Amino acid sequence: MKRETVTILGATGSIGESTLDVIGRNPKSFRVLALTANHNTQRLAKQCAQFNAELAVIANPALENELYDALKELGASTAVMSGEAGLLAAAGMPEVDIVMAAIVGAAGLKSTLRAAETGKKVLLANKESLVIAGEFFVLTARQNGARVLPVDSEHNAIFQVLPAGFEQGLAQAGVDRIILTASGGPFLDMPTDKLRWVTPAQACNHPNWDMGRKISVDSATLMNKGLEVIEARWLFNAPPEQLEVLIHPQSIVHSMVAYRDGSVLAQMGTPDMRTPIAHALAWPRRIESGVKRLNLSLENDLSFRQPDLDRFPCLGLAFEAMRVGENAPVTLNAANEVAVAAFLEERIKFNRIPSLVDEIMQDLDVSAIKDIDDVLKYDKLARTRALELVKRKS
Ligand code: NDP
Repeated sequence: MKRETVTILGATGSIGESTLDVIGRNPKSFRVLALTANHNTQRLAKQCAQFNAELAVIANPALENELYDALKELGASTAVMSGEAGLLAAAGMPEVDIVMAAIVGAAGLKSTLRAAETGKKVLLANKESLVIAGEFFVLTARQNGARVLPVDSEHNAIFQVLPAGFEQGLAQAGVDRIILTASGGPFLDMPTDKLRWVTPAQACNHPNWDMGRKISVDSATLMNKGLEVIEARWLFNAPPEQLEVLIHPQSIVHSMVAYRDGSVLAQMGTPDMRTPIAHALAWPRRIESGVKRLNLSLENDLSFRQPDLDRFPCLGLAFEAMRVGENAPVTLNAANEVAVAAFLEERIKFNRIPSLVDEIMQDLDVSAIKDIDDVLKYDKLARTRALELVKRKS
């Protein structure tokens, strides 16, 4: 069988590293062609040398020479590009079969979209692309024959338990509801008056998952689940009223689909992103992922409960943005990215994240989105307003 060729956008991050780990276990199935990072030149160079990558891209153009030197020192013959042009080139290389979209935040939109435009098998970790440009993204993928495979563990779980042909409509497939599970993060049971004082280190210390800093904070506020609900809306063509969230602190059941006849199908596994990554990489085959096998006899407490929207206002804000539509998810996402970055830099308190997002959503008008330029315009507008609020109050 032909080895499939892979680009990883965001190779130096948590998803990027896990993807390389899975590829390393399956060298007869996959070959790395291009790897990208934002500023971590040393790590990127090491990865390129180890996997014999043909192209290395550093998003920050000022670091192109540094990357070149790091590769030279390792004796790697990898070509170097930088900036947006480099990211787009890596995503659209004609000889690439699979693109893992694992850049964090809206910064991943253009390159992820390029992978869809060029008809790749797109492994989607960068949920923000779908949150802010879901309709365009799905349409672009369909028009160009790109297959989008979800990497987010919840969406990958849902994909695994949906029947073939679900794209024609969930009702036709007999689906009643899609239930996304959420661990509840590190502050699930912390008294709410203590939330103001939590530190970035505490917020990033997720009880079950080892992830990048932005998504870790999003998991602590449950904004991550809100973004995932919007992501599911586009990935599965799901009407908002068919999407539900259930807290499941053990992160063993990764999500469920409830059918009209009363059946509820769930996908389970040890919380390790290498399972959904391996599933998406090899789909429809199954390959070795290196993940510890789930031993259900040791899991004596699988519990579920409703999310508390007073404790986690970000989840309610995301549902509201999804129902409103238009530019509301763009505003939500941009304000959240600014607020999370400000919290990580200790410029605002943890409990300021939802109130800041709420203020920006109340402040900005709801406007129709006609194209990707509109998405970028409203993204910038919301970021500018959110930054002003951070500056004013910090
Ligand atoms: P990380 O922060 O660990 O990694 C982000 C990657 O993107 C790094 O390679 C980083 O480069 C690169 N990057 C950051 N900013 C830019 C930019 N402006 N332009 C180009 N590249 C950039 O993130 P994660 O791996 O945790 O998450 C990646 C995506 O996957 C997110 O959308 C997240 O929501 C999603 N996801 C992650 C999960 C996880 O378990 N981590 C689970 C499910 C979804 P550098 O290292 O140089 O900064």
